[in-house]
Amino acid sequence: MSARAVFLDRDGVVNVDHGYVGRWQDFEFVPGAVDAMRRLHEAGWRLVVVTNQSGIARGYYSEADYEALTARMKAELAAAGAPLAGVYHCPHHPKGTVAAYTRDCGCRKPAPGLILRAAQELGLSLADSVLVGDKPSDAEAARAAGVGRVVLVADGAADAALADATAPSLAAALAAGLIQPSRSIPAARSAST
Ligand SMILES: [Mg+2]
Ligand SMILES: [Zn+2]
Repeated sequence: MSARAVFLDRDGVVNVDHGYVGRWQDFEFVPGAVDAMRRLHEAGWRLVVVTNQSGIARGYYSEADYEALTARMKAELAAAGAPLAGVYHCPHHPKGTVAAYTRDCGCRKPAPGLILRAAQELGLSLADSVLVGDKPSDAEAARAAGVGRVVLVADGAADAALADATAPSLAAALAAGLIQPSRSIPAARSAST
């Protein structure tokens, strides 16, 4: 059986979205997020971060800055008992200032490229997986990829029509029982058949 994953948007879900967070000193975990991720890991979910990082294309921080931050984030989470199965990012933007990253692409959410690549590389069942995001583009990417369930948190909770459920935060979504395979939820099953 393929593994199930919780796909996590990064900025606004895992860490506070201060806007173009490219360096560790600007990275602040959302309260309760690390503990929620540990609980999800212990419950058998693979944890996969999928994040738009147009700050790279815009020249706000470099790919090396991003990779250094990501290494630190992964280490902190692993030490807390919440190891990440993968971190996938889109460095592109069609109106960037760094030529190498300035283009249309298939990986910037709402495109599904990051999720599809993760599923292929990690052997994930998308139908059994859940995405937690904070923007409409997160929900759109998840739908396009065939992720079974979408939860929007924080600012995204206002976009309830795009999601199967909303909550103030990842921790609140977990506490409310909103993170579970869609086929285990009768309402979602009847809506999709
Ligand atoms: Mg976000
Ligand atoms: Zn991209």
